[in-house]
Amino acid sequence: MNIDHIVVRYGELALKGKNRSHFEKLLLANIRKVLKPFPGVTAKRIQGRIIVHLHGADETPIQEALKNVFGIYSFSLAMQVENDVDAIKEGALFFIEKLHPNVKTFKVSARRANKGFPVQSQQLNHLIGGHILRSLDGSIKVDVHHPELELSIDVRDAGTYITGGAIEAAKGLPVGASGKVLHMLSGGIDSPVAAHMLMGRGAQIEMLHFHSPPYTNERAKQKVLDLTKELTKYGTSIKVHLVPFTEIQTHIHKEVPSNYEMTIMRRMMLRIADAFAKNNGNLAISNGESLGQVASQTLQSMNTINEVTTLPVIRPLIAIDKETTIAYAKRIGTYETSILPYEDCCTIFLPTDSKTKPKREGALKFEQYVEIEKKCEDALNRVETVHINAFEGSSSVESLF
Ligand code: ATP
Ligand code: MG
Repeated sequence: MNIDHIVVRYGELALKGKNRSHFEKLLLANIRKVLKPFPGVTAKRIQGRIIVHLHGADETPIQEALKNVFGIYSFSLAMQVENDVDAIKEGALFFIEKLHPNVKTFKVSARRANKGFPVQSQQLNHLIGGHILRSLDGSIKVDVHHPELELSIDVRDAGTYITGGAIEAAKGLPVGASGKVLHMLSGGIDSPVAAHMLMGRGAQIEMLHFHSPPYTNERAKQKVLDLTKELTKYGTSIKVHLVPFTEIQTHIHKEVPSNYEMTIMRRMMLRIADAFAKNNGNLAISNGESLGQVASQTLQSMNTINEVTTLPVIRPLIAIDKETTIAYAKRIGTYETSILPYEDCCTIFLPTDSKTKPKREGALKFEQYVEIEKKCEDALNRVETVHINAFEGSSSVESLF
């Protein structure tokens, strides 16, 4: 006797019309991805739910994996027994003792879809409830109104299913349900959190990262790959596009007065992101900016930087304070990697006198000295793409352009 399957539920509200089937297929595919490390464990869609069959695997790590998958609302461990009263009694008792040993109140809710089964639902409630009360002798009581555990007994043709105790999962929409977004990932705390938030609204994230070797080293690059790998456990593989940025940064450093360097560097980043996204089928660009956090994140600065793109720039953290973001990063498992002390390209040659209110006229004036098109094109031609497939244990590198 054992827990042999998991019943997965998804939010009904998001499921309207034709979207439903698309949503379900994506969710099933994403669940299968996170189940890859568990050979033999299968998932299939049955009547508005997804059933994960354990085939003998330990349910504990599988629960942990399922909790992370966006689009899953909740799930419950379950077991199948024969259509036989003694088997159901034994199964129900096993279920409580194994999974809910400390529960103080319960209720049995039996359903009999198989009308050939000789015992009616009400009677079954009494038989099973009585057996549990006698067996656990005083440590547990029935409460029909507000039970801590509602044990559901579902008698069907193929067998009887015993389940109870919903475990909450990530909720949101399955990754991929809302289209592709190009996310600007640094090695910092904020941008991985912003990526996670967007994934929860169904965005298929692709990462764009600017690096400046030899000023930024291999470990800084590895950090970005590690952060991405951490994010794949929320239901998808993720591509990381690495843009060589050294020439542009040194060029800007040479040609532009230091108080406009940061603004023009950001405009160059966004120009490259814009061109890359359009060529790559991304409908929006996203980043980890938060209003007022640093000089480049004032409204005036965003206004001046943003004008180089016509794509929507999504900023999930715009009104979130740093403490909340840090707590979020800890919860999703990116924080420890984010605080490793490797230099990001934005911090090299960092001027101390960056304007907090850079004007577009200023940016345009100094950009006359910058070879914008040629430099952007050169960088785009040398983008390197790494596929992170956390659950297949492998990643591969390719050049895109
Ligand atoms: P983060 O913690 O995400 O680095 P931050 O508060 O340190 O954010 P900045 O370093 O000013 O802020 O960066 C603002 C945003 O710009 C980042 O959230 C990220 O989206 C983007 N960004 C910064 N550096 C890079 C980079 N090297 N490659 C790609 N995007 C970057
Ligand atoms: Mg940063």
